Amino acid sequence: MELYIHIPFCRRKCAYCDFLSFAGCENLQKDYAAALFRDIESRGGILSGRPHVETIYIGGGTPSLMYEGFYEELMRRVRESFDVADTAEISIECNPGTATREKLSEYRRCGINRISFGAQSAKDPELESLGRIHRFENVRETVAMAREAGFDNINIDLMMNLPGQTRDSFLESLKAVIDLNPEHISAYSLILEPGTAFYERYESRPDLLPDEEESCRTYESAVKFLSDCGYRQYEISNFAGEGRECRHNIGYWKREEYLGVGLGAASLIGSRRYAVTGDLSEYLEKCRYASTEELSETDVINETIMLGLRMNEGIGISEFQSRFGRDAAESFSDRMKKYVEAGLAGSSEGRIFLTVKGLLVSNSILSDVMI
Ligand code: SF4
Repeated sequence: MELYIHIPFCRRKCAYCDFLSFAGCENLQKDYAAALFRDIESRGGILSGRPHVETIYIGGGTPSLMYEGFYEELMRRVRESFDVADTAEISIECNPGTATREKLSEYRRCGINRISFGAQSAKDPELESLGRIHRFENVRETVAMAREAGFDNINIDLMMNLPGQTRDSFLESLKAVIDLNPEHISAYSLILEPGTAFYERYESRPDLLPDEEESCRTYESAVKFLSDCGYRQYEISNFAGEGRECRHNIGYWKREEYLGVGLGAASLIGSRRYAVTGDLSEYLEKCRYASTEELSETDVINETIMLGLRMNEGIGISEFQSRFGRDAAESFSDRMKKYVEAGLAGSSEGRIFLTVKGLLVSNSILSDVMI
């Protein structure tokens, strides 16, 4: 199974962000650590024994904001309560400008072997408009420090379709990132989330954002450019060098079991989904589940389709059939036929998948083919 650990602190709230994270609460780090350790020791209050863990992902928020020494203690406690595989992929998200040499060495010392940098853009004016605390020079410096600390598996996150961004300016950012030789690149499209400063600013002014045609051109050019540079697309927004795909995220898209610990963390255990409270003071007092939900067979089929079609390898029909029965597999294949004929999906070696053009309109395809 997989383990997710949430760290909800940020130095400043970015203008587009609706993740569960808070600025100006750094004084609560020690209290949060105590609550998280309690959560880990009780295996989220869901599991017992010493569950075997193949991947760990420390996300946020800004995990690299935590005080020095925190991760050594965290990983010691994780290993006490979980049987962490020797070959486990252990990732941490890190914001350029918050990681020091000492922190990066500590991450390596305690077994963290993959690091993900939220660069978002190589253009400083774009970073400023996003409300990021760093500039691209900080990305260059932090990646160099991470290499010195011994990281040989680095991801860099970028954002597409930012206000004022064109295909060419995005490709310039991409090139600047590729020059840093990361093993993995994620490129996410900006989404205007209600309640964020960006939503207020741009919801009623879509003319200030790249239009659909420009967004599609940017995406297709980015996929091609990344492929030419040796980064194979394996999911809508994710690209990796040979063998450097993120195992934790693949497990998530394949619906493997995961336990989430920390504020607002979600878990999928058996056919049940859990979500920890997102109320910080409630969490500090006691790890409460805000919701638990028993998934029906239809929910599981729909999640399998929705997550499976995000990946370039798509869905194996015989696997789908042995899991959900012949009727479900035939009905899924039938519903995909028109997309295969339109070139938005492909079918080969017993698998059905979306093409790059299909990935661009995946939301409408998914809502049509789910039952
Ligand atoms: S650093 Fe990440 S989690 Fe924190 S506010 Fe910015 S986008 Fe959100």
